Amino acid sequence: MRSHLLNDTTTERYRASVTEGVERVAARIATTSRPFTGVSPDALTPRVEAVDLDTPLHDTGAALDELDELYLRDAVYFHHPRYLAHLNCPVVIPAVLGEAVLTAVNSSLDTWDQSAGGTLIERRLIDWTAERIGLGPAADGVFTSGGTQSNLQALLLAREEAKTDSPARLRILASEVGHFSVQKAAKMLGLGQDAVIVIPTDRDKRMQTVALARELARLDREGLIPMAVVATAGTTDFGSIDPLPQIADLCAQYETWLHVDAAYGCGLLASRTRRDLLDGIERADSVTVDYHKSFFQPVSSSALLVRDAATLRHATYHAEYLNPRRAAMERIPNQVDKSLQTTRRFDALKLWMTLRVMGADAIGDLFDEVCDLAAEGFDLLAADPRFDVVVQPSLSTLVFRYIPAAICDPAAIDRANLYARKALFASGAAAVAGTKVGDRQYLKFTLLNPETTAADIAAVLDLIAGHAEQYLGENLDRAS
Ligand SMILES: *Cc1c(COP(=O)(O)O)cnc(C)c1O
Repeated sequence: MRSHLLNDTTTERYRASVTEGVERVAARIATTSRPFTGVSPDALTPRVEAVDLDTPLHDTGAALDELDELYLRDAVYFHHPRYLAHLNCPVVIPAVLGEAVLTAVNSSLDTWDQSAGGTLIERRLIDWTAERIGLGPAADGVFTSGGTQSNLQALLLAREEAKTDSPARLRILASEVGHFSVQKAAKMLGLGQDAVIVIPTDRDKRMQTVALARELARLDREGLIPMAVVATAGTTDFGSIDPLPQIADLCAQYETWLHVDAAYGCGLLASRTRRDLLDGIERADSVTVDYHKSFFQPVSSSALLVRDAATLRHATYHAEYLNPRRAAMERIPNQVDKSLQTTRRFDALKLWMTLRVMGADAIGDLFDEVCDLAAEGFDLLAADPRFDVVVQPSLSTLVFRYIPAAICDPAAIDRANLYARKALFASGAAAVAGTKVGDRQYLKFTLLNPETTAADIAAVLDLIAGHAEQYLGENLDRAS
């Protein structure tokens, strides 16, 4: 079936096929009235299982009809204003256009001879991002699959820069609300079980620098090596930004690698009103940015930036068939020399199209809008006796929990909040996230959709309170 290969003889089929798919998605997006239909795994599984993968339909329209049933109809739609759960953003159209282009051309960014201009475009965007951060003239970096991979690579570089033969003595310091990928990375890097030291946070969920200083002094006394401090610029739950200048001072004092995980907070790099929240990030040795969180880009789009390009050599290996040492000497730009991946998508094109069509200010304005909305949401929650809200947001998340008017067992309140989240998701009316604060169960709004209004937030809070009250009403015996 050579007619399915995209080439000079099939461009009409390509055009028609992709257009048909775009039409289906557009029709769905135009008519979704809820972020989710509430379909259960039990209801959906048999429909997916029933497909005979060895019997093709031989018809694009029929395959799309089937896909509509299996996926599009019941998908979770992040563009809906009542999707308030995780760090997923609605996507900007120039980026979706970029995605369509990059996947059809199918460049692979490992080597120049598989990408040409693609490599140069990625490099420009790395330079652009490093400049916005302020990393200085020797900065470099590479696009990655996401924040998890960026953090892993940053810590790999930090481990190599620590220059020790006793990895058992290496320690990473991160706040108690840092991302779990730091723990995963430590494990993958072969560090010991207790390699990650958790630093407590203040009441705003920012790393306590006094505690960090104390730990660094202790490691020094005990002959242990602080391989890296991971400061988070926008924690996943609270959006809190660790005190970067003070942390940078301590890292300078102890000659420790400073990694700033700005997977979420990177949108501030484009903000015209809040860029100062990232002050101090320019002193980092490495920075994680997830454009697929706060730059309104489709998954995947992420990067690792480093202050000193030379540190990327720790990820360099030469293969004769791909990127021989000779090529590096000839100054052929092979991005694989800087990456943990080999074959790699041209994700950078999405950000490129976004900057060329909309510009960075427009992206920053969108992110500012959701941060403003979170401030409004905080006021709503703080004024509402039905809810307890944890911290005033600096970015766009709100962590809160329903509390009944009557005195009630805290464990029952936990269950009521868990129930409310589940019931809300099953109804499809809205999607919210959950998390723990201390031992207690909380709920979370992650606001990344500028189309969401304060009225949406108020309506979802009413729904949550309704479900929680219903739960406590029905379980009063067990609750008291
Ligand atoms: C989301 C997130 C990550 C992980 O990024 P992925 O792109 O999901 O791999 C890391 N750190 C923080 C602070 C995050 O919010």
